[in-house]
Amino acid sequence: MFNLPQLPYAYNALEPYIDAATMEIHHTKHHQAYINNLNNAIKGKPEENMSLEEIMKNVSKQPPVVRNNSGGTYNHNLFWNIMKPNGGGEPTGKLADAIKSAFGSFADFKVKFSDAGATRFGSGWAWLCVSGGKLAVCSTPNQDNPLMDVSECKGLPILGLDVWEHAYYLKYQNRRPEYITNFWNIINWEEVAKMFDSAR
Ligand code: MN
Repeated sequence: MFNLPQLPYAYNALEPYIDAATMEIHHTKHHQAYINNLNNAIKGKPEENMSLEEIMKNVSKQPPVVRNNSGGTYNHNLFWNIMKPNGGGEPTGKLADAIKSAFGSFADFKVKFSDAGATRFGSGWAWLCVSGGKLAVCSTPNQDNPLMDVSECKGLPILGLDVWEHAYYLKYQNRRPEYITNFWNIINWEEVAKMFDSAR
């Protein structure tokens, strides 16, 4: 049985980049619904005793309800943690070096990641993941992610951006690129670096 995690900050903490109403609905309605739907779908089955990672590793053998909602649960767990008030700037240390070696510069990485989010047609996510010891940027549709065996891009996600309309529509309406630009002000690079370290 999976539970809704507490946000590590208040609903209004990411203002003005993400508004409090969007955060509250996103967390208490959308994320909670993915968790409830997943719990209902795996009730009385072996998956009840598995981690999200274990479920997603073989998600091709699962019905769509498990694929969509295990992804929805995992993706939002990650998303809340890689943001913080007064975030942004640039990463330091080994993560900064790895970004430089994979993408040329932080600015080039920023363009590549932003494009991944902006060009994802319909709903989905942009990712920075660790794959074969290297960093890669990609995007996935719906609630898929790079941990799923069905995903075209594979790896361990350390940064993810939700580009579903529910993540930005109240404040930005159709202006997804503006939401993506503002996301760079609230990234929690310390948390991303922590996941990068444990992935290596
Ligand atoms: Mn979402």
